[in-house]
Amino acid sequence: MDQHLKKVTESRIKRTILNLAKNNMNGYHVANTKELKNLLANLVPENASVAVGGSMTLFETGIIDWIREQPYHFFDRYAEGITPAELKQVHRNAFSANAYFCSSNAITERGELYNVDGSGNRVAAISYGPDKVFIILSANKIVKNIEEAVTRNREISAPANNVRLNTGTPCTFTGSCSDCRSEGRICCSYSIIAHQRDKDRIHVIFIDGQYGY
Ligand code: SF4
Repeated sequence: MDQHLKKVTESRIKRTILNLAKNNMNGYHVANTKELKNLLANLVPENASVAVGGSMTLFETGIIDWIREQPYHFFDRYAEGITPAELKQVHRNAFSANAYFCSSNAITERGELYNVDGSGNRVAAISYGPDKVFIILSANKIVKNIEEAVTRNREISAPANNVRLNTGTPCTFTGSCSDCRSEGRICCSYSIIAHQRDKDRIHVIFIDGQYGY
């Protein structure tokens, strides 16, 4: 990354982490996937039960494979040959997990998390259940405020995910949300995390680079 842009991006991450702290959430900044894994290994003890939300970032950073190699009890939603009934149970197990890993559709500079789900399992687990939630994302997901977060989802996250999942929704073809009522709609449950009562519960980790949508 250009050094001048890097400096601006770092300031933006710093500002967001300061505001996360005001909202009783913890922020971190790592340079690469090696630092990310070292940090997670320090924050999540051996024998912890672990679950994940649907996330391209977790795949792109290698965190899914990394979790599988750790001495954790992994409720693996991506396990080969998993049946719909088993997946339902994995989603339910996530609510009692010690640690939950996912990304976020957007984060505001005010330290708020914005997410939109199809089935709702991820926004539910971020809101309540797992002892600790680890949200991994790159600076391209930082927006000024909730209005920009909504726009980001409508113009980038949701259309890109619809294309990836080949849902056939209007945004798959136009690249922009038209508030569809399609069978394949993935925007069903909307969530804003503005504050936490337990300051040790949510941990947001920024990683340099560009990951996810
Ligand atoms: S509501 Fe429909 S058109 Fe809008 S982003 Fe979601 S799936 Fe696409």
